[in-house]
Amino acid sequence: MGKPGLLIDYEWCTGCHSCEMACKAEHGFGEGQCGIKLHKNGPWQIKEDKWEYAFIPIPTSLCDMCADRVAEGRVPTCVHHCQALVMEFGDVEELAKKMDKKQKVLFIPCD
Ligand code: SF4
Ligand code: SF4
Repeated sequence: MGKPGLLIDYEWCTGCHSCEMACKAEHGFGEGQCGIKLHKNGPWQIKEDKWEYAFIPIPTSLCDMCADRVAEGRVPTCVHHCQALVMEFGDVEELAKKMDKKQKVLFIPCD
């Protein structure tokens, strides 16, 4: 695999915080620290029949793409624990090919 990445289809993110909690537990991060942080857009009205209301998990600079787990052949713990199955781990070039709508975001680790 080349450079690893995380693809998140946030259209279907339920805002459950499981990714945050799993990441925190796996890495033993202290209070206020996390490798991924859930953000919320809205709710606000865009037009009469359309609202903006979305949860968007965003990896932080503490995210190491779960290098230890991946070295053992496992997927990152956030991906493993996402109940809505909206997170995908893989080669960033391959994941980029799946960027087919506005509500998807693709992250690569900080150097
Ligand atoms: S890939 Fe690992 S370190 Fe990065 S956000 Fe997910 S659980 Fe945290
Ligand atoms: S675990 Fe999945 S559904 Fe829950 S907040 Fe994270 S990305 Fe969204």
